Amino acid sequence: MNKQILIGIMGVMMLNACQVENNEGTESFDYTVEQFADLQLLRYKVPGFDELSLQQKKLVYYLSEAALHGRDILFDQNGKYNLTIRKMLETVYMDYSGNRSDADFVNLEIYLKRVWFSNGIHHHYAADKFVPGFSSEFFRKALQSVDVNKLPLSEGQTLDELCDEVFPIIFNPEVMSKRVNQSDGEDLVLTSASNYYRGVTQAEAEEFYNKMKNPNDSMPVMFGMNSRLVKENGVVQEKVWKSGGLYGQAIDKIVYWLEKAEEVAENASQKSVIQKMIQFYRDGDLKTFDEYAILWVKDLDARVDFVNGFTESYGDPLGMKASWESIVNFKDLETTKRTEIISANAQWFEDHSPVDKRFKKEEVKGVSAKVITAAIIAGDLYPATAIGINLPNSNWIRSVHGSKSVTIGNFTDAYNKAARGNGFTDEFVYSEQEKNYLDKYGDLTGDLHTDLHECLGHGSGQLLPGVDPDALKAYGSTIEEARADLFGLYYLPDAKMQELGLTPDSDAYKAEYYSFMMNGLMTQLVRIELGQNVEEAHMRNRQLIAKWAFEKGAPEKVTELVKKDGKTYVKINDYEKLRQLFGQLLNEIQRIKSEGDFEAARQLVETYAVKIDPALHTEVLARYKKLNLAPYKGFVNPVYTPVKDAKGKISDVKVSYEEGYAEQMLRYSKDYANLPYINE
Ligand code: ZN
Repeated sequence: MNKQILIGIMGVMMLNACQVENNEGTESFDYTVEQFADLQLLRYKVPGFDELSLQQKKLVYYLSEAALHGRDILFDQNGKYNLTIRKMLETVYMDYSGNRSDADFVNLEIYLKRVWFSNGIHHHYAADKFVPGFSSEFFRKALQSVDVNKLPLSEGQTLDELCDEVFPIIFNPEVMSKRVNQSDGEDLVLTSASNYYRGVTQAEAEEFYNKMKNPNDSMPVMFGMNSRLVKENGVVQEKVWKSGGLYGQAIDKIVYWLEKAEEVAENASQKSVIQKMIQFYRDGDLKTFDEYAILWVKDLDARVDFVNGFTESYGDPLGMKASWESIVNFKDLETTKRTEIISANAQWFEDHSPVDKRFKKEEVKGVSAKVITAAIIAGDLYPATAIGINLPNSNWIRSVHGSKSVTIGNFTDAYNKAARGNGFTDEFVYSEQEKNYLDKYGDLTGDLHTDLHECLGHGSGQLLPGVDPDALKAYGSTIEEARADLFGLYYLPDAKMQELGLTPDSDAYKAEYYSFMMNGLMTQLVRIELGQNVEEAHMRNRQLIAKWAFEKGAPEKVTELVKKDGKTYVKINDYEKLRQLFGQLLNEIQRIKSEGDFEAARQLVETYAVKIDPALHTEVLARYKKLNLAPYKGFVNPVYTPVKDAKGKISDVKVSYEEGYAEQMLRYSKDYANLPYINE
């Protein structure tokens, strides 16, 4: 609920849409690692790590160990047999002596890489089970050829018995076919393969938790968040994930490293956050967890920050059980400066915006969104990750104590850099001139547009007295996103941006204008299946703005769709006129919002934001397919190595980026194997 996976399934792709090959000024750092199935692995840099103090480096290092030690928890949460299957596959992958270029082995390797990526045998995004490209006969023979002592046999079990137990899970498409089943009308608990419930029906689970809830409690804990619900001897009960409980072996390792981190905390507030987290891992009491969340939300002064624990509830069909994840990060001071400049000038921007005076705020406060540099990711954030996080999840804590909202700068940067030269821009951008704009300014103006959108756009303007904030109903979020985007688009070319040192010259904005129009009119369609409409609010907003500006500027040919060699391209002829159009639309959208004009919102959205021209859609999909790009991406982590002095004390921590994908996964499986293969 609170993870920004940047516009869903292929959002990352779109973020990359404005990138071009860059031959100058780029470092030799290789952001791409490998590509298989529908996945691409990248690596990210951790700029600024070397400049941290020794104490901060130690803190990052200890917290990163605490992060990696939770890995097996998520594998087990995602399915009862995941750890067993991973071990069987890894043993064959390591020790197989047959021909490694045979199709069966190659497909086993791809399957294992997918299992690593998904932390289990189901797709990380779609949640359906992978279809193995190798035969069960091959796998059985391969298992027979390796050292039986390395295989995950339970006490007294033979290899054949293990195969008979596990093979249907891998090879029979009917068994455990969905990790999370959301189909209306079925028993969602019984039909989901995730490991959050054992032997209970959906009705039993719902009854169990409904009995706990008190409608008069204004500060309810998040019931069920940290346990598996089981029925044993006819009794429904929770098995709590805590020290001494389920997953206790991994949790004790996490606590060990958290205790080390506590000793090098940056200040008293951060120290109390870590202490409270340790207490929660020990007592498993959800009240303790809320106390922790409140302390965490108020811990704003430390440079280093982290999440470590049961966090995301997408994996539970009932939305209660939280999957384990961790991220360790530190504030990006340079980039945060940029958002601070923007926030500090919030009133100027509000006063000069092209909207009617009645709809402006007398006094406006910019939101200071922190930009962070991720140092390690784990659990449900690894390898596929979010680019922004907003926590905690508890509704009452959010409304009483607030939340922390961050964007992860070094991930966005890595996505951008990795997309250079992937062919996307060459395929879709009109001419060298636009490519040059994108090349020179695209990263910067893309970030600035996001900053203006987040720090000013959403916070600008006001409703007229008596207007219901929900008056626009289902059109509300599209209109709201359009308002924020237009605010940014309108100001990007403004002389004020140069005056504040945010843009280098008066051409820079053209990069964002071009990529925005290309995206809104054409390229974002690659994420939509032929025959479907635009549904998602951010995508609707972009098409609304682009199509409206296209149509209103048509008599003067402000923007055109032109054909070259049978392919369609966006061509902008008059950038200054386009800015005026954005200003006009901002004025109208603000009016709609301020007055709660539902009918006008409906008209705008239905006319411009929803429908797709099937001929253009077909063309764009075909062109995209030829580029052979992977729609899902994930990251390999950097490696942190402590340097010790003669007395064995840590004198420095080094970060390196050389580790490969399989290498990293195998190392994690060896060094952080904290749980039994089957966890009862
Ligand atoms: Zn927004």
